[in-house]
Amino acid sequence: MLLELAADLPYTPGDHVGVFACNRQELVDGVLSRLQTTTDPDEPVELQVQKETHTSNGVLKTWEPHERLPPCTIRILFSRFLDITTPPTPNLLQHFASIATDPEDQRRLTLLATESAAYEDWRHWRIPHLLEVLEEFPSVHPSPALLAAQLTPLQPRFYSISSSPIVQSGQIHITVAVVSYRTQDGEGPVHYGVCSNYLRDANEGDDINLFVRSAQSFYLPPDVSRPVIMVGPGTGIAPFRGFWQHRMAQLHAAAGGQVFGKMWLFFGCRQHALDLYREEKARMLEEGVLAKVYLALSREPTIPKTYVQDLLRKEAAAVYQKIVIEGGHFYVCGDCTMAEHVYQMLKLIIQEHGGMLDSEVESYMLTLRDENRYHEDIFGI
Ligand code: FAD
Repeated sequence: MLLELAADLPYTPGDHVGVFACNRQELVDGVLSRLQTTTDPDEPVELQVQKETHTSNGVLKTWEPHERLPPCTIRILFSRFLDITTPPTPNLLQHFASIATDPEDQRRLTLLATESAAYEDWRHWRIPHLLEVLEEFPSVHPSPALLAAQLTPLQPRFYSISSSPIVQSGQIHITVAVVSYRTQDGEGPVHYGVCSNYLRDANEGDDINLFVRSAQSFYLPPDVSRPVIMVGPGTGIAPFRGFWQHRMAQLHAAAGGQVFGKMWLFFGCRQHALDLYREEKARMLEEGVLAKVYLALSREPTIPKTYVQDLLRKEAAAVYQKIVIEGGHFYVCGDCTMAEHVYQMLKLIIQEHGGMLDSEVESYMLTLRDENRYHEDIFGI
């Protein structure tokens, strides 16, 4: 996905972009329809919090603007600033129990708020967002002010930048997996990830609020002659697309005689059809930007299950050569389970090919990190 920048926003490949999303309109409308309020949801309001100061003349009570929620309409508050999709906490359920008018709603809400086993079962089965809770307990009509004060702020979501500021000047590209799933063991309603769906549904010309967060420990080597091995299955490929774009620009701009280390990419996905940036990778191979591209397919019917770590193992001697002998940099991006498998595989490769004892390889792996040659960009479980 391409984000056109309205202002200069410097970044380096490897950095993350933080995106402020909006909650889905039908969730916001549903929540608003269940609030107890006479205020027009499109009138500007300011949430104020009562502060108590102890003075020599007694307790002084003052109303002060909420520290994190700006003056805006109730609709914008629930759309942009409040998290309405994370399952409500026991504290919030206790508040709902206190305002429920139906005794059965009161009883069940009190049970959920006070019995942790009942709460956990309910939460794991239904993974309920705020609207579903208000639908399950229809006699609960919270006041917008009290509800807003109890909900946590909607957090920005981070994406690894998939572009180079030299090549895609004035733009940031990202590679986003759209999250949606059914609750209740796949039998319940569909839930949509807030930000990935917000981005998917965005139209050309829409304003998207974002910022850049630097990730200096995940940059390309300052010494361009060092080999680079990149391992990123699925959306883990995201930062590497920025890397190869950047390297392409460096190659084009280079003076003759400048030596660039080889770049190898290990990508993995379930099936051929899910291969990301297939044509671009082929072009990068042709142009010599990428020296090798490996594809691990884990669910292709005609091929034995293969993961990125299996391909690393197949190329063990060359991986050892690039990382240990030539002092290369190793990058891994994606979920933490995969990253752990990849780490263990690299360790095994180095131990076997270097003829090292357990203690020696442990210390070598620490050195790799100390020398900033082992880089991780981990997201997801
Ligand atoms: P949310 O509204 O946050 O919902 C996601 C939550 O839904 C999960 O945490 C889980 O609790 C729940 N959930 C999801 N699936 C299920 C299920 N099957 N059953 C039950 N519950 C479930 N993402 C990318 O796509 N590309 C990137 O390049 C990328 N880079 C990242 C870099 C960093 C440093 C970090 C921290 C994260 C990165 N992510 C990336 C992840 C991204 O930030 C978001 O977490 C992701 O897009 C989901 O956000 P969302 O708002 O759409 O979903």
